[in-house]
Amino acid sequence: MRIVFLGAPGAGKGTQARRLEARCGWPQVSTGDLLRAAVAEATPLGRRAKAAMDAGELVSDEWVMALLDERLRAEDCSGGFILDGFPRSASQARLLKELLRASRQRLDAVVMLELPREVLMKRLTGRRTCSATGKLLNIYFSSAEELAASRAAGGELMQRDDDTEETIANRLSVYERQTRPLLARYADLLRRVNAMGTPDEVFERILEVLPSADSMMPAANPAGPSPGKSYG
Ligand code: AMP
Repeated sequence: MRIVFLGAPGAGKGTQARRLEARCGWPQVSTGDLLRAAVAEATPLGRRAKAAMDAGELVSDEWVMALLDERLRAEDCSGGFILDGFPRSASQARLLKELLRASRQRLDAVVMLELPREVLMKRLTGRRTCSATGKLLNIYFSSAEELAASRAAGGELMQRDDDTEETIANRLSVYERQTRPLLARYADLLRRVNAMGTPDEVFERILEVLPSADSMMPAANPAGPSPGKSYG
């Protein structure tokens, strides 16, 4: 299956894409993660991309495509993948179409995670990573026990460089301007999912709109996918 996760920053695309990977085996491919790795390694591309990322702007298509093209050629993507945070603009959607066409592939589904703006703001401004456990937490939504466990592990709650209020506002407006219009483009493949609630609840809703996901899971269906099932 080749799936795109669409949705504003903070809608939970990364969390849900990782869950789907764990469940079904298609790797989560996050352009944000690929870019952050390039920044952390201080590659020439990473050094050039950092300014746009810190400002909440989109990194140039050329650099994102260079990373993505290489990642999608890896063996683990041959049976499918989950794109998280790509495409983010009409030009990227065109580039993705070309890339897939060149390898005779097609998209099977576009999952749109929907969440009101006030909740997105809280999710993003409250988002922290525990430096000791690596666990993703939120100062507004995580339970007192989870926050205490991080303190007990001697962890500091780290904030992503681009999770400041000013950058978040810009990332949301870039999303509205450049990414949201893709919904119309993908109308045929679109599955809208209400992203309010716990990660478990949202994940269940995603599995419901991707009925074929279950039939692709070896554990759920040892006989393998049923023939003739449509994934689009
Ligand atoms: P994310 O982790 O998906 O929220 O991405 C973090 C930042 O990386 C974004 O605000 C952009 O600056 C950059 N970025 C991630 N994906 C893309 C993309 N597909 N096109 C351009 N820039 C991107």
